[in-house]
Amino acid sequence: MSPATPAALLRASPLPPLEARILLTHVLDWRHTQLITRSDDTLDEASIARYRALEARRVAGEPVAQLVGAREFFGLDFEVTPDVLIPRPETELLVETALSAMEGISRPRVLDLGTGTGAIAVALASMRPDAQVWALDRSAQALAVATRNATRLLDANRPGGVLTLQQSDWYSSLDPALRFDVIVSNPPYIASGDPHLSEGDLRFEPRGALTDEADGLGAIRAIVAGAPAWLSANGVVWIEHGYDQAGAVRGLLSAQGFSQVCSERDLAGIERISGGRLPG
Ligand code: GLN
Repeated sequence: MSPATPAALLRASPLPPLEARILLTHVLDWRHTQLITRSDDTLDEASIARYRALEARRVAGEPVAQLVGAREFFGLDFEVTPDVLIPRPETELLVETALSAMEGISRPRVLDLGTGTGAIAVALASMRPDAQVWALDRSAQALAVATRNATRLLDANRPGGVLTLQQSDWYSSLDPALRFDVIVSNPPYIASGDPHLSEGDLRFEPRGALTDEADGLGAIRAIVAGAPAWLSANGVVWIEHGYDQAGAVRGLLSAQGFSQVCSERDLAGIERISGGRLPG
């Protein structure tokens, strides 16, 4: 006899319980609490089949965020597709640090390089309705996802206006007259030979969002080298990087003439972002 209730499906699942619950609430379009209050409901065959199909794909390795098409970041529910990096909790540190840098600046101009889902840019725009935000990506597919996220998650009448989403290889397509108070980026920073690229969720994410196909610092070098020309006096740049890259990124920032160069640790205690200020 095949299990036909939520309780039975979850009990029989080979997945970690939380993942099974996320997939089942997605299929049923229920809230998590309904899995408890309705745990003995008899489910229809179509729902059971859809759940089993997602469960099998998860067992085969597909990321939960791609299977349900969404991932929460900074309290906002972002659409996720295989065309974009899945937002990570440690990237919230980059948003918090950028928000601190924007304190005291009215109508700050913010640039997010390699926006992907748009998570960083949309979180900043949502927290600072007066900020003018540019979000760039070289991938047209990623920009389509970011555009949908920005449209769905931001107030169309926010004082800072709609996000400017633009296809650009780092700074290449930017209007040369623009200057920014804050530049942020979570660029591809994994070295091409890193075995993590063939493990877990990373196998299913766009390779171009993960690796520079070199030593892992190529994108960061390009961002740091270009930043002074695009920053206002006293503007700051903050970049996310790998667990062992903080020293190298601080070195790049210092060599480029940035002051107040430092790194911040994520919740796991790892130096996860580094930044500096352009002297005024
Ligand atoms: N944080 C991701 C990971 O290591 C990498 C993201 C990136 O390259 N920007 O899983």
